[in-house]
Amino acid sequence: MRSGLEDGGAESKFLYVDIEVEAGAQMPCPVCAQLCPLYDHEVKRWRHLNFWQHPTYLSARVPRVQCPQHQVKQVSVPWARPESGFTLMFEAFVMALTREMPVSAVAELMAEHDTRLWRIVRHYVARAHERQDWSAVQAVAIDDTATRKGHRYATVVVEIDPQQKQPARLLFMTPERTAASVGQFVAALPAHGASPAQVQLAAIDMSAAYQKGVRAHLPKAQIVFDRFHVMQLAGKALDEVRKQLQHEGAEMKGALWALRGNESRLSQAQLELRHDLCARHKELGRAMALRENLQDTWEWPGAASAEIHLQAWCSWAVRSRLGPFKKLAQTLKSHWAGILAYYPHRITSAAIESINSIIQTARRRARGFRNFENLKAICYWMAGRLDLQIPSAFTHPG
Ligand SMILES: [Zn+2]
Repeated sequence: MRSGLEDGGAESKFLYVDIEVEAGAQMPCPVCAQLCPLYDHEVKRWRHLNFWQHPTYLSARVPRVQCPQHQVKQVSVPWARPESGFTLMFEAFVMALTREMPVSAVAELMAEHDTRLWRIVRHYVARAHERQDWSAVQAVAIDDTATRKGHRYATVVVEIDPQQKQPARLLFMTPERTAASVGQFVAALPAHGASPAQVQLAAIDMSAAYQKGVRAHLPKAQIVFDRFHVMQLAGKALDEVRKQLQHEGAEMKGALWALRGNESRLSQAQLELRHDLCARHKELGRAMALRENLQDTWEWPGAASAEIHLQAWCSWAVRSRLGPFKKLAQTLKSHWAGILAYYPHRITSAAIESINSIIQTARRRARGFRNFENLKAICYWMAGRLDLQIPSAFTHPG
């Protein structure tokens, strides 16, 4: 073996390693491991970690063996996986970087084409995802998420720990948001050591599609309409009241943001605007009070007290002379059991919200590409708690 540093021009240096195999030697077939006679050599080159600022390549004459069963095969090398033009160390480094920054930025930093880096990401994520054990999954949240601004939607399935000891784990992502999307997740269970019967809880929104999907594909699962989606509907009802007032000619500049979300999220100016709007428009004041009071439903210690709260809320909403809130009361009444099924497990919405924010981050990072598979890979990588198993110093489990 000989090695050295070679000047490949102004910008590039090559580290080369030449491996010579003795004439007449035999080497194992990469498929069946049987010792086989050498057939020929092929010079191969792998991009390695940079040596200082220089892109560095490893180059070797790699023998090919002639296996009686598998024909001519290139023997495996310990520093790279077959078919890859990169060393394992380089790939591990790319994976560590792509978890923290956009792939396009990594490509620029490493002076490499982003399509080649995407191939690395997809490879490791797919393998790690395939190996993932779902045998202990008991509760899932199924939700839709925008994959492109305002247009395409995908379904995400997140594992939630009923004991709330483990952070949420993104299990599955598929294009579309239909009843069949739930079926696609369920079809993937056996390959991960899991079965539909073990899923006892499914937190979903109130769309007909997911209710139908869960009933058809997860027959043992109790449906929970989680707080996040109920409050989302209350937010929409409030916004309809605002739009109606605006339609009638009320001045509503800045109202959209000032009325959205909890007070703690608002700036001082927004908070003042909210109070001012609610004082000037009695309807808006009532709508705001209704929304805030609905939120208290989940503060009660058990289903019985929460149910009393919810009943009182619904009769208030019905008497409120606010169309959108009357309608919301009807919606809640027709999803009653599922809303109260929050107890006793107290399935939180925090899981769905946190995964959703990761997916939106991933979506921004994936800006400029139109490939769902790439988005999925980055989402699994950021939120799926994958163990990549790259033999290298750069990846830490967890
Ligand atoms: Zn063989």
